[in-house]
Amino acid sequence: MGIGRAALYDPAAAGRASIVTMTGDHEAMQESLAEAHLAAEAGEVPIGAVVVHEGAIIARGQNRTLRDNDPTAHAEMVALRAAAAALDNHRLGGCTLLVTLEPCAMCAGAMIHARIDRLVYAASDPKAGAAGSVLAVINHPRLNHQMQVEQGTLGEEAGELLRSFFRERR
Ligand SMILES: [Zn+2]
Repeated sequence: MGIGRAALYDPAAAGRASIVTMTGDHEAMQESLAEAHLAAEAGEVPIGAVVVHEGAIIARGQNRTLRDNDPTAHAEMVALRAAAAALDNHRLGGCTLLVTLEPCAMCAGAMIHARIDRLVYAASDPKAGAAGSVLAVINHPRLNHQMQVEQGTLGEEAGELLRSFFRERR
């Protein structure tokens, strides 16, 4: 194997290359925020989500409970269903879900069932958040599946979108 060929298979070089092409958290959350804006335009509470797998967005979802007359049509549920269809698997190991608002108990439960690896949420939800704000469904010590959780990416923007939506409704 020549030196040039060896360099092609250098894992460190491959790692650096993949970082460039990976969808970062900030970029992916901007897509979630774009979904939230679309929900608002449709008269829905503005919440959006995307699912990232191997550095690419494989599914997106926006809150559509009013449009679908479906109490389960939260952005996360819509995105999880689309991701499972895209991967042809009900288990979503290796996936990161990025959502503009801290998930509720239903969505947290669905993420656990799906074996999501990582959750990133923008704004916390002091009224219904199940990643620690009200309930601690995610990473509850009695549950088998644990996931990485990160909070804050674009939190200001996501929170302001929700606040302005409710201001206009009043
Ligand atoms: Zn939910």
